[in-house]
Amino acid sequence: FDTSEDVKDRFRIGKGEYDVAIHPTVSSDGKKILSVLFYDVSRYLAIEKELVRRNRELMVINTLSGAFISSYDIDKVIGNLLEKILIITDFSIGWIMLADDDRLVLKGHRGVSQEFLGNLNEGDLDDFIWSVLDTPEPLYILEQSQIRNVPFLKKEGFAFLGAIPLKVSDSVTGILFLASGSERSFDFDLASLMDLVGNQISLIVEKIRLFEETRRLAITDDLTGLHNVRFFYRSLESEIARARRYNDTFSLVIFDIDDFKVVNDTYGHQAGDDILKKVAEIILNSSRKSDIVARYGGEEFVIILPRTSKTEALLHADRIRQQVEGYDFDTNNQIKVNITISGGISAFPEDGESAKDLLHAADMALYCAKGAGKKQVVFYTGKNK
Ligand code: GH3
Ligand code: MG
Ligand code: MG
Repeated sequence: FDTSEDVKDRFRIGKGEYDVAIHPTVSSDGKKILSVLFYDVSRYLAIEKELVRRNRELMVINTLSGAFISSYDIDKVIGNLLEKILIITDFSIGWIMLADDDRLVLKGHRGVSQEFLGNLNEGDLDDFIWSVLDTPEPLYILEQSQIRNVPFLKKEGFAFLGAIPLKVSDSVTGILFLASGSERSFDFDLASLMDLVGNQISLIVEKIRLFEETRRLAITDDLTGLHNVRFFYRSLESEIARARRYNDTFSLVIFDIDDFKVVNDTYGHQAGDDILKKVAEIILNSSRKSDIVARYGGEEFVIILPRTSKTEALLHADRIRQQVEGYDFDTNNQIKVNITISGGISAFPEDGESAKDLLHAADMALYCAKGAGKKQVVFYTGKNK
């Protein structure tokens, strides 16, 4: 019975938590008195826990959203995200697969072997992935005992593997996988952390997709799906810069459909639109991957042919011209129609060293082709006036 000190401790009684203080005193008549005070701290503890949880949430959101702002390149963003996810969740291995045309494609990975990547790409994990996609739960966990039954997971040295389906309004856009080589106890804390990370990544993946779609639309022609004129101008400038830097040449082709007004007047604007789409497809399909094909105006198309001389460009453009000429275009009332196109070509640097001069030269050549009876491709000679 030491009156110089209070005794304090914390107890759990039933559902509550209490700080208990025992206060020994001696009364004036010499009686020893113990006052025992119970403070109910359950509420404070709950608030404290909630604060810690929210703090962690904010940290996760803050850390992950920083990854999106840092770059516009999806692969870089995913790599960056994955790094942050591993730090936040304290895992050492992870990979992300995203939905692409009804397939899940590996988009980023950390800490897995080349052999394992091979397994992934060959679809060895597909059964597991299907189980992940089938589960209504927000997480799918394989613990050591289950991993032992899957040879290549065991071989990779996993002791714990978690998969988090990434969802946007109930449709799966991908899966985030987290693994570790040492056993990890899967408790409520880890589950809620993985769930939170999964939600954040889903939102970010959706943002990236929207962003990419917006960017794609900004450089695409609505009707034909070819690049639009804005993209073409940008590409022409960079092709000029490239050719100048490497002392290289390139050619520019402008096509214009012959008498397209007549086609519209005869078969209607809708049929005209359908023909434009088909012509675009023919030009695109007969171009090389490195060529840049764009819709230049109403019924005009342009192609930038890198590392291509004017004579090579003429052969190429004439082949396209013949293909269009030989094609039977559908009109809405099942009448087949044939059309012809004319083309003009200019080349860097002999016909001009600026976009304006090159376009003007190709246009002059086109004008010349039209004047000489249409359905032909002509290159600029300096005399096509
Ligand atoms: P030319 O042989 O001299 O080129 O004769 P053209 O009739 O093709 O004349 P021009 O190039 O001046 O006219 C282009 C026509 O293409 C006018 C317009 O009605 C049509 N056109 C332009 N854009 C579109 C489009 O997006 N859809 C449809 N259906 N027609 C278009
Ligand atoms: Mg025209
Ligand atoms: Mg025309």
